[in-house]
Amino acid sequence: MKELPARRLLLVHAHPDDESINNGVTMARYAAEGAHVTLVTCTLGERGEVIPQGLAHLSGAALGGHRRGELAAAMRALGVEDFRLLGGPGRFADSGMMGLSDNDDPGCLWRADVDEAAALLVEVIREVRPQVLVTYDPDGGYGHPDHIQAHRIAMRAVDLAAEAGCPVEKVYWNRVPRSRVEDDFARLRAALPDTPFDRAAGVEDVPGVVDDARITTEIRGEGTAYAAAKSAAMRAHATQITVDGPYFVLSNGLAQPVLTTEHYELVRGARARDGVESDLFAGIGTEEAS
Ligand SMILES: [Zn+2]
Repeated sequence: MKELPARRLLLVHAHPDDESINNGVTMARYAAEGAHVTLVTCTLGERGEVIPQGLAHLSGAALGGHRRGELAAAMRALGVEDFRLLGGPGRFADSGMMGLSDNDDPGCLWRADVDEAAALLVEVIREVRPQVLVTYDPDGGYGHPDHIQAHRIAMRAVDLAAEAGCPVEKVYWNRVPRSRVEDDFARLRAALPDTPFDRAAGVEDVPGVVDDARITTEIRGEGTAYAAAKSAAMRAHATQITVDGPYFVLSNGLAQPVLTTEHYELVRGARARDGVESDLFAGIGTEEAS
């Protein structure tokens, strides 16, 4: 069996682009530090809305294939080599937004049996043996069916893997502290006339916003190569994201700040010390000093 680095991080996401928006700095940092970073994406996002006019013809499987290429480019930007689709490409279809008939597609992730899908993730956990897993909160951050399902699959897989003798020591949910993102949006509204964007999103449009007190961990990226890598990774998802400097839009056209410090809530495992952790692996005994 191939020797793996001492520190191993697994991220579970719904669609290509979610990893770069939520965890781009974190992934770039740990990859650069020599940790083994594994991304499992549950669908190819083939029901996503396409922003660029020149790519508007892409839909369904063609869009899924294109987004696979965008994901690969984003992973090059972040320095991450191990990225996989849950159960292989096309195993689970994008479920579309909540309440659409897309959710009824029997092949979509929302209709998948959680135990069956989790078993596929357990295979990855048993192979990679991550100490740390990152995913969404129970609402998927903002209620998208695929994000909710990715959460359920990830949490179920953690339980099943523990039963199989392969425990994940720490589990984190993606979070955004309210006071900080309110400050970011105030800056964005002031700068909006100088951006190519017409309107700003609101704090309520950002997934995973919670009171600051719930934040256990922050990975700082301001002014670092990791923030630049995150920006490049987000740009690689060109069908879904338009980046301009410190701001970006999704297909709704509403400007948001690129979050260069990424925040987490530890939900399984022991917090290393009082105060906010600055390392997802804090308190975990790895063979290498970190
Ligand atoms: Zn998504």
